[in-house]
Amino acid sequence: MSRARLTSGLGVTERASSSSVVRLWVDLGPPAFRLGRRGFGSVALVPDVRARYPQLIRLAEAGSASPPMIVGQACQACGRRSFPPDPYGCEACGAAVDQLARTELAATGVIHAVATVHRHHHPRPETPFTVATIVLDDGVTLKGVLTGDTSAAGVGIRVRGVTVPWDTDDDGTEVVDLRFEVVPEPS
Ligand SMILES: [Zn+2]
Repeated sequence: MSRARLTSGLGVTERASSSSVVRLWVDLGPPAFRLGRRGFGSVALVPDVRARYPQLIRLAEAGSASPPMIVGQACQACGRRSFPPDPYGCEACGAAVDQLARTELAATGVIHAVATVHRHHHPRPETPFTVATIVLDDGVTLKGVLTGDTSAAGVGIRVRGVTVPWDTDDDGTEVVDLRFEVVPEPS
């Protein structure tokens, strides 16, 4: 794993079919709430939150406890699903990019490999942090940064996507980023 490529957030599918493994790293964006206006003059507690990379993550509806969804593509010709969205076309069958349809992938899966990063070239996330190659239940492999108690993180361990605070926009909108946490074993 190239440390220089590690920034944070959600990793991208390892393209095992190409000679050079593409390891792009992108950051995605937990909800915060603030007083906002809804309707005519009524003031209510409404979530005002966006994903750091909304083109790659769809947050749950306001007030929902649903996990974030990962925005990928599905090839209409061969069915291959991929992440991140590919601007050129299907790697598997060569279909043109207009054959690639937006699809949402559940942010749940199993750790395939895991490593702790002690040094990297961005101040965030703060080191040390743990990254994992994750095989999503929807079949796509990507890399993600783990959050929470990572002591149980290992090959074969289930993880799920969660959002964590990243920043606040000038207008007060909370910006959130995607992380993965270990799913506790049922007791
Ligand atoms: Zn295809």
